[in-house]
Amino acid sequence: MPLSRATSPASHPLPERCDFTVFGGTGDLALRKLLPALYQCDLEGRLPDDTRVVAVSRASYDDEGYRSLARAALAEHGPGDEQDPAAVERLLGRLHHVTLDVTDEHDWHHLYGVLKDREEFASTVRVFYLAVAPRLYETICDHLGRGGLAAEPARVVLEKPIGHDLASARQVNDVVGGVFDESQIFRIDHYLGKESVQNLLVTRFANTFLEPLWNSQWVDHVQITVSETLGVGDRGAYYDQAGALRDMVQNHLLQLLCLVAMEPPIEVGREDVRDEKLKVLQALAPMTPEDVDRDIVRGRYRAGHVEGESVPSYADEVGADESLTETFVALRTEVQNWRWAGVPFYLRTGKRMDQRLSEIAIVFKEPPTDVFPHREGLTEPNKLTIRVSPDEGMKLHLTAKEPGPGGYRMRPVSLDLSYATAFAKRSPDAYERLLMDVIRGIPTLFMRRDEVEAAWAWCEPILRHWESTGLPPKMYPAGSQGPSAAFTLIERDGRSWQEYLPE
Ligand code: NAP
Repeated sequence: MPLSRATSPASHPLPERCDFTVFGGTGDLALRKLLPALYQCDLEGRLPDDTRVVAVSRASYDDEGYRSLARAALAEHGPGDEQDPAAVERLLGRLHHVTLDVTDEHDWHHLYGVLKDREEFASTVRVFYLAVAPRLYETICDHLGRGGLAAEPARVVLEKPIGHDLASARQVNDVVGGVFDESQIFRIDHYLGKESVQNLLVTRFANTFLEPLWNSQWVDHVQITVSETLGVGDRGAYYDQAGALRDMVQNHLLQLLCLVAMEPPIEVGREDVRDEKLKVLQALAPMTPEDVDRDIVRGRYRAGHVEGESVPSYADEVGADESLTETFVALRTEVQNWRWAGVPFYLRTGKRMDQRLSEIAIVFKEPPTDVFPHREGLTEPNKLTIRVSPDEGMKLHLTAKEPGPGGYRMRPVSLDLSYATAFAKRSPDAYERLLMDVIRGIPTLFMRRDEVEAAWAWCEPILRHWESTGLPPKMYPAGSQGPSAAFTLIERDGRSWQEYLPE
């Protein structure tokens, strides 16, 4: 199959020069995710030769001081023993640190000086990665605009959360959009950078056998589960203002749902995928207060045991006894369009669950008639499960006859595709793919403004209803699969949560 025109390297060539500026270059995101991803891209020769990485923070590092910090971060969060010392040195040589309080008008000349000291200033691809609190976006964008740094080919990268509701998301988008054109804005949802998520597009649209089945005639329902074993850790202050619906459902789970439910794009190119995802978000059944009460379960973990360790309750972890914040959501929704009318989509996500995994299950309908009236053994509906993480892979669950004489003894079996085995290759971290797409200017795997706002518009009635009722979430023990009400939610439809794939 030919490469799509719009995503082929020829249509988005690697720029000759890149200044990759990370606001918040000393923060957790930069040290844990961005530097290791840049290291890997550099190791594999994917960065433009003439790349500088400029870290910005208020800390008073000089370049050498920051390189020491980065060296330690790469040792801790990079590939460990398998690090290539020459590649580490090459990346460290690209790093600079600019001490700048972005809220201080007088500090900015330091950064202007560094970024404008190149003769090739105008043709350099300038990436501004905002790895800082969203309240700083406005002042940063304003200074970049005033400093003449925001013109094409500059790009700005935004991390979640983009707002905490529709109005605040619009405000963030207005602020950034006041300086950068939408085509220059790259909103990251790192789930979209995961190999298995991109493979979902390939599975659906580069094969023929699934498409005729991928609709309400043959699909009984869809399940999307993203479960974490971690608690809120040191993100308690942020998380207690957010909760699972804002932190996970509004972005990651709805993005996965979009990729499952979207129509085939004309091509996987500039805007087609994003256009189709938007249509799915717009087709989600709106939630009335009655729907919220009936079709959504909120939960919160109490103390328990996760992976053999005893862990505290959410209230103790965050120090917020009175908080009504949820750490678990399970919900049932529908995509009200021709393809999916009447097919339930069940979504669930939680912290301090029994396993860490992200998985999508497409559960097909039962055969229309049973031609084996005297069969023995177990049968289950056909199912395609896609393991997003960990151990990315896919299983197609079928029913087969157990070998042996006599009648028909049946057993569920599966065709397994493990990425690790099939490709015998390292699976790149999502940020590696996404950072290179930013540098090349490929927007497909980033969220467009209208997508983000459509997702918030769907979540907003849920949040408002929860606020107005003021009811506490249902408790579940840490290390479980969430509150019992989450099981009732699906069982009342005569279905059950699919067992996770065995490790
Ligand atoms: P963090 O560890 O608190 O780091 C914040 C960074 O911003 C630090 O480098 C800090 O350095 C810098 N900073 C703060 N105020 C500044 C100012 N006035 N001027 C210049 N620099 C300033 O936060 P993080 O976890 O890296 O997260 C950054 C953003 O990414 C947040 O919006 C977060 O929600 C989002 N995010 C993070 C992750 C993650 O895995 N960490 C994942 C998804 C999204 P100084 O204090 O030295 O100035």
